[in-house]
Amino acid sequence: MSPQREIYLDHAASTPTDPQVVEVMLPYFSQIYGNASGLHKQARASARAIDDARHTVADILGCSPKEIVFTACGSESDNIAIRGVAWAQRQAGKGNHLITTPIEHHAVDHTFNQLCDKFDFEQTVVPVDRYGVVNPTDIAAAIRPETVLISVMYANNEVGSLQPVAEIGALARERGIAFHTDAVQAAAYEPLNVDSLNVDLLAISGHKIYAPKGIGILYVRKNTLLLSPFTGGSHENNRRPGTENVPYIVGIAKALELVQAQRPVENTRQEALRDRLIAGVLGTISGSHLTGHPTRRLANHASFVFEGCEADAMLMHLDMAGIEAASGSACTTGMPEPSHVLTAMGLPHDLALGALRLTVGRQTTEADIDTTLEILPGIIEKVRQLDPAYA
Ligand code: PLP
Repeated sequence: MSPQREIYLDHAASTPTDPQVVEVMLPYFSQIYGNASGLHKQARASARAIDDARHTVADILGCSPKEIVFTACGSESDNIAIRGVAWAQRQAGKGNHLITTPIEHHAVDHTFNQLCDKFDFEQTVVPVDRYGVVNPTDIAAAIRPETVLISVMYANNEVGSLQPVAEIGALARERGIAFHTDAVQAAAYEPLNVDSLNVDLLAISGHKIYAPKGIGILYVRKNTLLLSPFTGGSHENNRRPGTENVPYIVGIAKALELVQAQRPVENTRQEALRDRLIAGVLGTISGSHLTGHPTRRLANHASFVFEGCEADAMLMHLDMAGIEAASGSACTTGMPEPSHVLTAMGLPHDLALGALRLTVGRQTTEADIDTTLEILPGIIEKVRQLDPAYA
């Protein structure tokens, strides 16, 4: 059986741009197109739009507009934060030790690895438990006198687990260590007040919150030492040079406003869909296991592993049946190795190869979930027949 329309269950990879977001962006392509650095009416109109967007974002994050940096994407926000703070802190003689977790997105962990491999930093990668959650006590134990940066993501992209960010931030603050969180997956579903979260740096990506791809936000707390990895003009408080992408900046601010305003209603609605999906899968498919935390997880996020299943085969069959899903991080799909996240959670290699991530969104309906639950068991059975050992 194939559904009438595609059922899109890959909102953790990307979301459709909200029509209200497109609408506010449109005038900034060919009506108000001035370079915001100029001294004429067109330029002033662009500068005003950026300023308004910065205030909107700052109000949501509970910070000063001066602490908001518009970037090109979530990866760039993570890069500027981590590399910028590590370099500046070391230059100030504060140390060269970094702390992170093994479940971060590659925008974070590859940046840490490069700092260690090429720039003589040292890192401690603090383990997570079987739900993919890091224990703040373990972070505290990893702190050294020369620790200058801690980075722990707000919510994991592959298994949806929420991390105790505020607690970790509190202990980082006590010790005077900069604390960065990658909030790319959390931004649509969790509160973002930077003081309650005790964060010094926080990254957001447009295309995960119903804004377009190619725009991001970085929050940098006042007085945080940061040496931008970019040089050029003095845009974005000297942190991100380059003529501002006005329509996209206007768009991401509107999108953030919308997701945060709709959060109470949408979280309740999407959680019900998520729970229906989880109960349906675990109840009807033998050898299926939920990955990530059973309750402390993103409102839209269901993730599983299936015994005797290969992820790409599952995804291919689902796609042919009209269901669009993922096996984990979109960036690693297609690689034969199991995900670093599932491995860090202690899943056996073979089981970790059978990962499926189903993430609901604004357009997802109960009927979509029920159709998925009708189709999925047959697909799992078919894929299992491809594995002689399992069959
Ligand atoms: N961080 C997390 C947790 C993500 O899930 C992603 C995207 O998948 C990114 C960072 C990168 O964001 P972008 O695609 O905007 O560079």
